[in-house]
Amino acid sequence: MSESFDRMWADLAPVGRDATTGGYRRYAWTGTDAVLREWFRGEAERRRMDVVPDRAGNLWAWTADPDAQGPGLVVGSHLDSVPDGGAFDGPLGVVSAFAALDELTARGWSPGSPVAVACFADEEGARFGVACAGSRLLTGALDADRARALTDDDGTTMAEAMAAAGHDPRGLGRDDETLRRVGTFLELHVEQGRGLVELSSTVGVASSIWPHGRWRLDLRGRADHAGTTRLADRDDPMLALAAAIQEARDAAGRHGALATVGKLRVSPNGVNAIASEVTAWLDARGPREDDVRAVVDEVGAAAGATPVEESWTPTTGFDPGLRDRLTAVLAGADGTPAPVLPTGAGHDAGILSAAGIPTGMLFVRNPTGVSHSPAEHAEPADCHAGVAALARAIEALA
Ligand SMILES: [Zn+2]
Repeated sequence: MSESFDRMWADLAPVGRDATTGGYRRYAWTGTDAVLREWFRGEAERRRMDVVPDRAGNLWAWTADPDAQGPGLVVGSHLDSVPDGGAFDGPLGVVSAFAALDELTARGWSPGSPVAVACFADEEGARFGVACAGSRLLTGALDADRARALTDDDGTTMAEAMAAAGHDPRGLGRDDETLRRVGTFLELHVEQGRGLVELSSTVGVASSIWPHGRWRLDLRGRADHAGTTRLADRDDPMLALAAAIQEARDAAGRHGALATVGKLRVSPNGVNAIASEVTAWLDARGPREDDVRAVVDEVGAAAGATPVEESWTPTTGFDPGLRDRLTAVLAGADGTPAPVLPTGAGHDAGILSAAGIPTGMLFVRNPTGVSHSPAEHAEPADCHAGVAALARAIEALA
């Protein structure tokens, strides 16, 4: 139902948008996050769905009682963003889920089992450094004590941020009561690549998520004066950083993987001071786990430092039966099954799948393939096609 999609999309558009960059800064457990959560509750209320937060602070809006009539079908995604992220990564899945239910309701359809729209907390890990923190906490893949102690760049812990936002961090931990309600999980997401463009398709079905992780490199040197310290006397960790960045590129190329240094912390961070310490974060992923591990080892060797693993997710396959069902349900008018694609991006769907929940993903075409940037885009007609596809999937599964 394109009108309801367009209205929700317009309502969310200004929330957390930076006027200068045009990108979104929707970080977990902030005031902006509270506005997004309030929006979610409002949309659920509008459809008489009951919102039940779980122990991790993820929100679940149910059409009926999943404890009495479940387990049910859950569709959804996340509303948070990376720094200066795009509008589509996350919100497209949440908005499409509500819009798909509207389309089905308008047709007079009612589900045979409870259906929920889910909004996962802190998917991007932009503030506390652990991606999919909400779904990992839910399944127990992220330890509660470790999560509570994670800090943002201002030194605020996740526990403090949650408490300030009105969510009790003492309840964190694997949430079996919530997991029991989820019979099947389906996440619609903007594609973060050009696979569908090359296939001339609007909507595709995910096959698997590449193994991926984040590592920290702690590079130590000695602070000194940029104008009076002879080159021979310097201990400058920026040189190790330069070697690490170059090796990330070279090793990734050799191993058919991807590696990125996209975040740095430099002390003292002065133009005329040799750095005393540099912290760099390495993101590495690829089709094969051994190659990803090799890239990380080689980057560490080039930098003369041991990479500290902050998160790791092995290859995540999605439920093959569900995948085949989705490709059949979403077949074209001529009977051609919907295309199947892998992805290098991590998702809450991957975390739930790894926890044993039958899970599937749908991708909506992204004309440039650009993501995690204000330039991320999907055409309105493709978004509407995504809603229609999700409605067909829900109808088949619930
Ligand atoms: Zn996402």
